[in-house]
Amino acid sequence: MGNPIRSLLDTLLELFYPSNCVGCGQPQDVGVLLCEQCKETSPRVQAPFCRRCSRPFEGIIVGEFSCPNCEDRPPAFDCVVSTYQAKGVLRELIHRFKYGRQFYLRRVLTDFLVEAMQDVRIQGNPADYLVPVPLHPTRFRERGFNQADALAETLSQRTQLPILRCLERRRYTTTQTRYDRQERMQNLRNAFSLRKSSDVREKHLVLLDDVLTTGSTLHECARVLRAAGAESVRAVTVARG
Ligand SMILES: [Zn+2]
Ligand SMILES: [Zn+2]
Repeated sequence: MGNPIRSLLDTLLELFYPSNCVGCGQPQDVGVLLCEQCKETSPRVQAPFCRRCSRPFEGIIVGEFSCPNCEDRPPAFDCVVSTYQAKGVLRELIHRFKYGRQFYLRRVLTDFLVEAMQDVRIQGNPADYLVPVPLHPTRFRERGFNQADALAETLSQRTQLPILRCLERRRYTTTQTRYDRQERMQNLRNAFSLRKSSDVREKHLVLLDDVLTTGSTLHECARVLRAAGAESVRAVTVARG
């Protein structure tokens, strides 16, 4: 759901502050949104990691592997690509974007999604649509926008992949930060449903969210999409919490 006034503000802010790092505020070359020093505070997820949920694994593993979580309870998504850890400046930027209404940050956050989209797990197979994780209407009113949807708009412009808003959040769930994986899954059960008149049969979908934590939100969304006949469901996030 694009907001034209917000998009205009976004563009104006970019025009007026074109060459300062959004992290530290230091002057940069034109077009540089985040300086190298700031970027380095958020480490890349290094191999070896689980090919399914991108969870990094300590030690030496050659080739592809699935982590114990994914072996134990295979997630409904084929994979989630999350290239950076939500630490340091990136963590701050996500927070400022999501809760501080600094909407202009979506451009720099989209850079991380563009990088995730380059992953062989995404590039290796066709993709038809980006599917942003929906917010419950109550949460939407509180926050004023859906961060996943806003990021999908900029990612769609950059990848030429159309957006399919085929999911809705029908249950209002309390904040999940206190819950472990098992409790989160319970809490989210049936929280999402397919929107009326949406057709995802035989489609290759790429779910999109800001931060990956336990993966239970993406799992629930993917479960609904699969049940509705989606051919494949992969996911990308800006970072991994
Ligand atoms: Zn910086
Ligand atoms: Zn895993």
